[in-house]
Amino acid sequence: MAIKHDTHVHSTFSGDGVSTMEEQILRGIELGLSSITFTEHNDFDFPYREGDTQDMFLLNVDSYLYELLKFKSQYEDKIKLYFGVELGLQPQPETVKKNLIFARAHEYDFIIASSHLCHGVDPYYREFFEGRSEEAAHREYFESILENMKAFTNFDIYGHLDYVVRYGPNRDNDYSYAKHADIIDEILKWLIENEKGIEVNTGGPRRGLLEPNPCWDIVKRYKELGGEIITVGSDAHEKDDLGYHFDDVTERLKDMGYKYYAVYENRLPEYFRL
Ligand SMILES: [Zn+2]
Ligand SMILES: [Zn+2]
Repeated sequence: MAIKHDTHVHSTFSGDGVSTMEEQILRGIELGLSSITFTEHNDFDFPYREGDTQDMFLLNVDSYLYELLKFKSQYEDKIKLYFGVELGLQPQPETVKKNLIFARAHEYDFIIASSHLCHGVDPYYREFFEGRSEEAAHREYFESILENMKAFTNFDIYGHLDYVVRYGPNRDNDYSYAKHADIIDEILKWLIENEKGIEVNTGGPRRGLLEPNPCWDIVKRYKELGGEIITVGSDAHEKDDLGYHFDDVTERLKDMGYKYYAVYENRLPEYFRL
C-alpha cells in the first residue's frame, strides 16, 4: 500500500460510526498506516426522520478532542493522529453562520466540506430521485454544491464530490463526468482558484460503485484545470474499511500524472510521494 495516510475516517463520535476511535487506531497500526485523520460528522440543521436520534449528526467536539489527545500521546510512536471534521454544508444563512462559528471554535488540522443534503433533501432516500431522470437529480446536486461552497469557504477540501451517485436507481452505471461537464468544471475551477482540494473517497467502491467518489474523470479533470491538492480517504465508519482500495488509487493517480497526495496538519497541506 503506497498511500500510508487515511484522511477520511469516522469513529463512534460520528452518529453513524461503528468502530471506536481506539479500534480504528489499532487497525491503522496493523495495516502499517503512518497516520489517520479523524473526520467526524457534524451536520447542522439536518432533517431528521422518525426513528433518528435528533442530534445524530451533531458532534460533541470537546469529548472527541479529549479522546483524540489521549490516544495521540498513547500511540505517538506508532501512528500519527490528526484532528479533523467533516462539516455538512447547506446554503441557508443560519446554517452557514453555525458552520462559521463551528469552524473557528477549534484548531482543527483538517476540514472536509461535504454535501450530504441537496436543497434540504438527503439523496440517500429514494424520493430524491422520484418523478425525474437520474441525470436531472445528479445535476441538482452539483448545482447545490456550487451554492454551498460559495456560501461557506472555511474548508480545505470538498468531500466525495459526486456523493449523489451512491444512491440513485442505477448508481454510477449511467453516470459520467461528461454529462455534467459544464457545472463540474465550474465547481473545480472555483476550488482551484480558492486553493482548495478534492479527495478520492473509496467509500463508493465499498458500496458497490464502479469508481470512487468523485469518479476518475473528475479527478483527472481537476488536474487538467491546474488542481494539485488531492487527499485520499476510505470514509471508513468501521475498522475493516480502513485504507480500502488504496493500492488501486495509488496506481490510478500515478497514471494520471499525479506525483503527490496531501495530508493536512494545522490546516496546511503536507505532500507525500505516491
Ligand atoms: Zn460524507
Ligand atoms: Zn465521511
